[in-house]
Formats: sequence, C-alpha cells, structure tokens
Amino acid sequence: MTDSEVMVTHPVLVVGAGPVGLSAALALRAAGLPALVLEGEAEVRQRPGSRATFIHGESLRHLESIREGLGWEVARNGLVWTTKRTYWGRDLVYTQTYPPPDPLQLPHSTNLSQVRIEAILLDACKRAGVELAWNQEITSVAVSGDEVVLGTAGGREWRARYVIGADGARSAVRDGVGVELEGPRIDNAFVIVDVAADPERPPAPERVYYYHHPAVQRRNVLLVPFAGGVRADLQLRVDDDPERFNDTEGVKRWIGVVLPEGYGDRVTWVSTYRFRQVVAADFTDRQRRVLLVGEAAHLFAPFGARGLNSGIPDALAAARAVSSALSDPSTAVGAVEHFADARRRAALYNRDASSLALKHMQANDLRVRIQRRVNAAIAKQGIKAGAWLDASPFGPRASEHQNETGSY
Ligand SMILES: Cc1cc2nc3c(=O)[nH]c(=O)nc-3n(C[C@H](O)[C@H](O)[C@H](O)COP(=O)(O)OP(=O)(O)OC[C@H]3O[C@@H](n4cnc5c(N)ncnc54)[C@H](O)[C@@H]3O)c2cc1C
Repeated sequence: MTDSEVMVTHPVLVVGAGPVGLSAALALRAAGLPALVLEGEAEVRQRPGSRATFIHGESLRHLESIREGLGWEVARNGLVWTTKRTYWGRDLVYTQTYPPPDPLQLPHSTNLSQVRIEAILLDACKRAGVELAWNQEITSVAVSGDEVVLGTAGGREWRARYVIGADGARSAVRDGVGVELEGPRIDNAFVIVDVAADPERPPAPERVYYYHHPAVQRRNVLLVPFAGGVRADLQLRVDDDPERFNDTEGVKRWIGVVLPEGYGDRVTWVSTYRFRQVVAADFTDRQRRVLLVGEAAHLFAPFGARGLNSGIPDALAAARAVSSALSDPSTAVGAVEHFADARRRAALYNRDASSLALKHMQANDLRVRIQRRVNAAIAKQGIKAGAWLDASPFGPRASEHQNETGSY
C-alpha cells in the first residue's frame, strides 16, 4: 500500500481482522464493493484461545450466503456433538442423543476453535479479493461532512465514506465516536481452558454440564468437545482466588479430575474471565458514518454462544446498510439507522438471554436455588424431567435472536 493510495477516500473501510471484521469484508465483497481491512497487529500473530467454539447452523448459513462453500468449509472443520448430558453432583439428571448430522445439509451447529475459524475466514478473504493492511492500529476517528478520517499509531491517515468498526472489546473506533458500553460486570470468575484431544483416547462427542461437580468441591463445570480438543469451563465462587485454579499446577489438578487421565498434561490455553454484560448505547455515530459490529458493540458471557453467532449477522447487516447507503445517498441515513436499531435490539435480547443463563448458574437468588433443587429432585426420578436443568445454563433457544434483521 503506497502513501498516495492511503490518501484516497475509500467507499468503506473495515477496522479489525477478527472474525467479525473478516465476515464484514466478505459481505462487502459479496455486495460487489471493494473491501479493505485495517488491522492493528501484524499478519503473523498469536490469537487468543478459549474463545468461540460453538457455531450455530444459522451462522454457517450466513457465511454460506456471502461466499459459496464457506459455511461448508467451517462445518467440515468442526465437530458436531450428538449427545448432551447434565449431572447434579454424581447423578445423571438429563441426557439426549441426536441422530448424526445429514451430510447433505449444513449441521444445526458445529464446534471448532476460534483460531481455526479465523484462519478459514482470512483465507476466504484473500481469495475473495479483500485487501488487508496490517500494523495499522487506529488511534483516532474524526467524522466531518461525508467523510471519516482514521488516524493510526504510526501517524497515517485513512479516509472513507463509511467505516465498519470491528475492533473488538476495547474498540478505539467506538471510543473515537464517543459511544459508551452500558451494563454490569459479573462478580465471579470463570476459568476457561482448551485441552488438546488425545488421539489415542479422543473425547466422546458429548456436551456435559455438571452442577456441583463432586471432584471440584461442588463447583459447576461445562465440558464442550470441539475439533481437536475440549473446552472446559470452571465456575469459581465469588470468594475463590482464581490463581488456585488457573496457574499451571491448579489447572492440571482440576482438568485431571474432570477429564480422562492424562488430559491434565494436554492443556493448550487458559483464560480467566469476569464477564461483562454490556451493549453499546448506539451502534452508530451521530453522523451515521460509523457502524459498530461484534465485540466493539456488545460483550456477553459465552453461555448460549451468542457472541460470534450474533457478530456474524451484525457484519452482514452492516455491509448491507453500507451498500444501500452508497448506492442511494438519499436513504443513507435511514439505512444506517435501521442497521443500528435492529442490531442493538438483537444485542439487548442476547444480553438478557445470557444474563438469564448466568442467573441460573450463579444461583445467588434463593428462588433460583430452590427451583434448581426441586427440579433436580424430580429429575432423579426420571431422566427426561431434567430438561430444564439441562437447558437453563444456556438461556433461551439460541437461534431466535441472531438473524440479520434482529426480529425475534
Ligand atoms: C471464553 C469465551 C468463549 C466464547 N465462546 C463463544 C462461542 O462458543 N460462540 C460464540 O458465538 N461466541 C463465543 N465467544 C465470543 C467470541 O469470541 C467473540 O464474539 C468474537 O471474538 C468477537 O469477534 P470480533 O471480531 O468482534 O472481535 P475480536 O475477535 O476481538 O477481533 C478484533 C480485531 O480488531 C483488532 N483491533 C483491536 N483494536 C484495534 C485498533 N485500534 N486498530 C485496528 N485493529 C484493532 C484486533 O487485533 C483483532 O484482530 C466467546 C468468548 C469468550 C471470551
């Protein structure tokens, strides 16, 4: 990229080459627009583990709609678990097994590491003619008239008619246009661990939730297999010291008892989160030139897998709004406002849904504790009665909220 190219006013720029920014770039290309992504980091970089693994079928269909074969490629690289189980202490209170996925249809969901998803999206971007400018950390945003000027840490300026801000939780684009994130941070931590599968003893394709796991002093544990590994989430108590559970020895100790023998030595990534449940006050700026998507616009606890699964429809909706705004300036403001309203409504729905899941898991409320115990007692008499206990840690059914229009 030469300096004279940098001075061009681009129709649209995407900030951030995370999964949502890359999806937005592909959606712009699908709409026949040029797509240039500005990424703050270098192309060769280590991306964090222990993030999105559960990708809904609806997200696969969205990806397929912006590039033929892309949804299928993600699906081919993923693992579909076919059994779910829930335990109350040592007692199995719910289990359900689904038929294997129909190879002629995109699956209902699939599981693979976010690092792998991003690699697939990046490759698709390169093949679709998306341009990427690495080491372009955006530090300022100025909107004047019909132009957005982005400044970088290296002193460069980038100009565009529209900007899609996909620069994640600490979004400089969001800060630059003065939009705040609104909502609480939860008070207990989760230790989330990726563990490589042992090819000799691969994990069963089962999602397992434990209330009061007997081997970890009755803390809740979620185990989700994905292609090549398992993600294990341990819910700490408010007064737990996370270091007892997230340093090398601590992790080895609890992974060694919740997964088969030997898995304690196969840990590849450990993160500790005190999740925020926040949504941007607006998904666009006052002049309707900057569109916020993905974690730049909302952050949820991952139970129910609403983050990336709603970031992808954000990206598609933003690209559609920009395409419409560029082709008909007379309706441009309305197109961007429609995007911002619809996706903010979807984000609020998702925030509420994951808050409901958290409320159930944390059980700080006496009523929730009683409700859980009563259901556990009934479920011990008949496995199917545990459906409520099985579903509650994930909130309401996921596919109702993610669609592009935000209607739910
Ligand atoms: C423990 C955990 C589990 C999760 N599980 C799931 C799940 O199963 N399913 C699901 O759907 N979601 C899940 N999520 C959420 C998912 O990880 C996020 O929604 C997703 O990463 C958001 O992608 P993004 O592209 O918006 O942001 P990011 O992935 O953060 O990408 C932002 C990009 O912008 C770049 N950037 C940042 N600042 C700048 C700057 N100033 N200038 C230029 N570039 C910049 C960054 O380097 C990065 O490349 C989970 C999250 C966590 C924490």
